[in-house]
Amino acid sequence: MITGKNYIGNKLSAEGNITHRTINPKLNIENSTPFFEATGKELDKAVALAWDAFKVYRKIPGVRRAAFLNAIADEILALDQELINVYTSESGLPEGRAIGERARTVFQLRSFANLVSNEDWRENTIDEAIPDRQPLPKEDLRRTLIPLGPVVVFAASNFPLAYSTAGGDTASALAAGCPVIVKAHAMHSGTAELVASAIIKAAEKTGMPNGVFSNIMGRGRTVGTALVKHPKIKAVGFTGSISGGRALFDLASQREEPIPVFAEMGSINPVVVTSKAINKRLAEIANNYAASITLGTGQFCTNPGLILTIESEKTQEFIKVLAEKTIAIEAQCMLHPNIKKGFIENGNSVTSQPGVEVVGQLKGDLEPNYAATLVATVSGANFLANPRTSQEVFGPFSLVVRCKNEAELLEVIDGLEGQLTATIIAEEEEYGDLHDLVDALENRVGRIIFNGVPTGVEVCPSMQHGGPYPASTDSRFTAVGTNAIKRWVRPVSYQSFPKELLPLALQ
Ligand code: NAP
Repeated sequence: MITGKNYIGNKLSAEGNITHRTINPKLNIENSTPFFEATGKELDKAVALAWDAFKVYRKIPGVRRAAFLNAIADEILALDQELINVYTSESGLPEGRAIGERARTVFQLRSFANLVSNEDWRENTIDEAIPDRQPLPKEDLRRTLIPLGPVVVFAASNFPLAYSTAGGDTASALAAGCPVIVKAHAMHSGTAELVASAIIKAAEKTGMPNGVFSNIMGRGRTVGTALVKHPKIKAVGFTGSISGGRALFDLASQREEPIPVFAEMGSINPVVVTSKAINKRLAEIANNYAASITLGTGQFCTNPGLILTIESEKTQEFIKVLAEKTIAIEAQCMLHPNIKKGFIENGNSVTSQPGVEVVGQLKGDLEPNYAATLVATVSGANFLANPRTSQEVFGPFSLVVRCKNEAELLEVIDGLEGQLTATIIAEEEEYGDLHDLVDALENRVGRIIFNGVPTGVEVCPSMQHGGPYPASTDSRFTAVGTNAIKRWVRPVSYQSFPKELLPLALQ
């Protein structure tokens, strides 16, 4: 049952008097529960508990942390229909999506449990001493990875489960041995509280220290700012806007002790469609992309917001068919009135730039928070001349750029900001001509998809979900897949250590 309170460690707490309510975007009404925003005192208490818990939790063997993660997965499943109902009432997303996202969340938790069940992930290395080495003896050196300390996770608005309370950031940090304080997203505070209750139950059942997890409510930046500034917080995970991620990154860098912020932010995910592919598979590509642009009302970080073509005989027809098929897909609800407002404002901003032409826009009487899908086009020259044409329009939107030749296409790619993904749609007979294109894209993105769509992010060790800024603040790391654990650890070397003082795996 939802109480509207924060979890400060394993205790429900509501000491403040500021509350907020979530919104049911489908019905365009407020949900009934008031959520108590955390006070400075509650926040300090959560951090103090996390710091004390860290000293114990960091030493808990991987198999016990794995049992904790698996128990979280079990407790989330045990929330059953209540979780699905609250999720859908706070996000406007359909039940099928809620069930799918829950499965992904559970899978992520179990994947990290599996990872830390043995010590391989720590990349332990041992260089034994060579006492008779000339001219100097070599010391015994052993290196492993250890957890950073308490981590703050900012829940994402667009994934109330898989990138929120018990999502990838939380699962990977807990797996690494870091206590987690989640700053719940105020758009889905009820979902956050339910999932937090599952984590607390799992912590108690598996004997984890109080403070290994807290869930803090807040809105209006006060709570998030205070958490990032707190000296006992040692790293931050974030999914959201570029402005938010950048503000938190700057805040963390300005601390007396700067800390890493792993922020996953904006991306328009360029898709290069060759003329040969358009000639051969126009309808198929248009169909696939209509579905990808509108998937989840376009509210995916890998949404294909930019389609790059080289002008040829069938380019105009392709753009027309793509627009027709995209706007033929039924209008869907957005996550929140503010997200819809941003979609309209940013869409208008792009389409009002010189040379940008709207090819198709879903018309008709839409419910208040439903999105009017939009496809627009612009020439390569106009796109290159105006950085505002490449701004992210979060929602079902895509801009098709018509380049005059390959040189202009490569110039467009070189000029793009960092991206999570890029996609190449091409025919087999031209693969040999694509090396320059692959080189150019490699330089700008974290994942390159061939003859597919960028939406749909597999959770596995080879996944890279992160790219050059502003796709993320540190392109060397991933936010998805088991390698995400690397964000929350640091290497330490032990030199000439007595065996009994070494971590077990190094002995
Ligand atoms: P957001 O505004 O960046 O907020 C995300 C979280 O960060 C919230 O908990 C927010 O807390 C906190 N936050 C943001 N700025 C902060 C600051 N300066 N100081 C302290 N805390 C701060 O993102 P959103 O609410 O999810 O969505 C807003 C827009 O972000 C969307 O319309 C979309 O354009 C973009 N977005 C992009 C992606 C993507 O994957 N590319 C994903 C989600 C959102 P408060 O509630 O306290 O402000």
